[in-house]
Parts: sequence; structure tokens; C-alpha cells
Amino acid sequence: MTQFKNIQELIVRFSDPKACLEYVEQMRWNGNPVCPHCGQNKPYRLKDGKTFRCKSKTCKKDFTVTTKTIFENSKIALSKWLIALYICTNHKKGISSCQLARDIGTTQKTAWFMLHRLREMVRPKAIPELSEIVEIDTTWVGGKEKNKSKKKRAQLESGERTPKKAPVFGMVERNGNSVLISVPDEQSETLRPLINAVVDKDSIIVSDAATVHYGLENEYKEHVIINHSNDEYAKGIYNTNTIEGAFSQLKRGIYGIYHQVSVKHLQAYCHEFAYRYNTRKIKDSERFELSMRNTEGRIKYKTLIGDKQG
Ligand SMILES: [Zn+2]
Repeated sequence: MTQFKNIQELIVRFSDPKACLEYVEQMRWNGNPVCPHCGQNKPYRLKDGKTFRCKSKTCKKDFTVTTKTIFENSKIALSKWLIALYICTNHKKGISSCQLARDIGTTQKTAWFMLHRLREMVRPKAIPELSEIVEIDTTWVGGKEKNKSKKKRAQLESGERTPKKAPVFGMVERNGNSVLISVPDEQSETLRPLINAVVDKDSIIVSDAATVHYGLENEYKEHVIINHSNDEYAKGIYNTNTIEGAFSQLKRGIYGIYHQVSVKHLQAYCHEFAYRYNTRKIKDSERFELSMRNTEGRIKYKTLIGDKQG
């Protein structure tokens, strides 16, 4: 498979619908189509060139490369999806639905829907394991308040009232991957199982002096506490700069591009920003290809509406 050096090459290549289809088939199946209904792997291709029929006697269903993917049941041309994916995965700070709509020539509503589906592609299938030096911390990001009354809005604008905020718990391996999780609270019962699920027991954990993390030294190789209230920002090679950097990227994205994020969608944004962070060392074309291999995440429009803007 040839890679694309830039978006111009991608647009030229995918202006041919057949080339577009072949590319998606290659990315999804590596040349060996598999029935998404039953898993049978020797279907035959029908004359229209894009439909396959399953050979399994109990299944016999038809499918195409978009069946059970984020592209399914949409009137948007596949080429438009691919261009949107390229733009979306390679914008370092994320992209708003208004901007995407202008870039690819759709309505803002369509672009908003596409962005939500594209975000499904960057949702990790497995949470990475973190080891060696792992920094952990919690940050609060602004959540959207539903049905704000005139009075509440006025209070918000005048600064009398602060917008509702929601906690995000973050863990990041020094020079490695990050995991960002939207959590209901900062209690030990909430955070400890997350740490245990993600961080290898031989790791050195670095955190601030939050009492919720007391006792980690009994479970891990070492627990280094940086006491910010004592104006302490590092202990030798240990600090919390990496996790703070990941948080500021998340917040810049949410406040600058998306303006507000409802708590309901916060985890999807966390995945998006963790994905961007975790793929920071690879090329744009490689990041695009990586996302293309994960087209089976699927989210229905029905589950999105109710919250208008993302
Ligand atoms: Zn089948």
C-alpha cells in the first residue's frame, strides 16, 4: 500500500471511487474479506464490484466493506470520510465541526456527526499498560450545563458562578503512552482500581500530595510525592511535568476548539487527545493508516442527539 505524503495526494487518489473502495478493503481485511455477520472468510464478490455474499450455509448474508463500520448507513461519500479522517487525526489541537464543514463542504450538523463517528476510530481497543516512571494526576475540565436559565447564564458571564466542572484522571509513562479517563469523582475507590489496571507493579509512581494516593508505596516499587503546596516541583529526576503537559493539551483543545464539552462526551474527547498524544512520534500518513485499521467502532446518530454541540 502506498502511503500519502500529504492531503493533496490523498484527494487525488480517492477522487476515483474504485481506488477508494480498494483502499478501505485492504485496510480492513488485508486482502482477505471476512463476513462481518458470522466471521466466514471466503465470501464471493458480486457483479456490482462492492458487495460480497457470505458462503456460509447458515449465513448467506450480503455485505460491503462499510458494513458494521463507522461509515455504514451514511449518505456521505467514502472519499469525504477519508479526507475528513485525515484532517481530523492530523490537526494537532483537534478540529471543530464548523471548520470541518467548511473544509469538506458539508453542513455543520453533518460534520459534527462525522467527528463523533471518527472519534470512535481512535478509541483504544485495549488500554495500554504503563511502566517504569508513571506520573498520575487529576484535572477538572468545564462541563456543559444543560438548560441554563437566563439568570444562571448572567451569573456565569459575570463570574458569580463557575461552570460545572468534571474530573479527568490521567496517567502517563515518561517518554511513553498516556491514559486519560473521565471519572465521576476523586475517591480512592474510583482511582485505585484504574491505577491497578493500567500501571505495572514494578513502576515508580509520581503524584502530588493528594491524600487519595497515600499507600501506593505499598503496592508499587516506589511512590514519589511532589508537594506543590511547599513550592516543590521536582525531586531529582521526578516531577509531574509530563502529565501536566498532557492535561494542558486536552484543555486547550476543549476550550479552544470545542468550547464546551458535555460530561457525556468527555470520555470520547479524552480518547481523542490521548490518541493524539500517544501517536505524537509517528508521521501524519502513518497516523491516518493506523486509524483506518480501526473502522469497526460504531456509534449511532440516535445515541448522539440530545446534546447538540460537541
Ligand atoms: Zn456470514
